[in-house]
Amino acid sequence: MHEEIRHPCVQHKLALIRDKDTGHKLFRELAKEITMFLCYEALKEVNVAEVTVETPLAQAKCHKIAEDLIVVPILRAGVGMLEGVLDLLPTARVGFVGMYRDPGTKMPVAYYKRLPHESGNALYVLIDPMLATGGSTSATIDLLKANGATRIVVICIVTCPEGLKKVEEAHPDVRIYTASIDDRLDDRKYIVPGLGDAGDRLFGTS
Ligand code: URA
Repeated sequence: MHEEIRHPCVQHKLALIRDKDTGHKLFRELAKEITMFLCYEALKEVNVAEVTVETPLAQAKCHKIAEDLIVVPILRAGVGMLEGVLDLLPTARVGFVGMYRDPGTKMPVAYYKRLPHESGNALYVLIDPMLATGGSTSATIDLLKANGATRIVVICIVTCPEGLKKVEEAHPDVRIYTASIDDRLDDRKYIVPGLGDAGDRLFGTS
């Protein structure tokens, strides 16, 4: 299951972040802002607990998020979305996964993994700005499931039909939220029209 968030505020920021003339400072700010909107949507059905709050006038029945939340950025570009998620979910725990593509097999290989203890029913928020081939997203979901994860949502800024198909076929239980399903992958496996190399644009390494 996937959802493309077509809200004008998200699409406006997407227009800005796509622009090749947007420098790394603004790119980072936009990545954070878009992530907050996407995260807001992705968490619309999380479990809440009823609490009673004393307002200055009376008691109010309110709801607080009642989830063990674990945010997992895929290194390196996923780090550019972390601040946005943590601004919304400041008590979330954070795990990191690093993936590279083996030049021989072309398969994703985890070179780094540091995940919080799985409490039994945690909700994992997996973040990576570009869900391109779907290889590293799918492999990271495998890894999270091997760690005991049963509830996972993916947030990406841009994806494409090829990547969505790969992840959804392997993991039909995982929901994917994105600001855009772009046209296709090019020969270098970049998303077109996309944003270019999100890691380079976030960190000014191009
Ligand atoms: N990774 C990127 O940074 N950009 C793409 O278009 C695809 C993968």
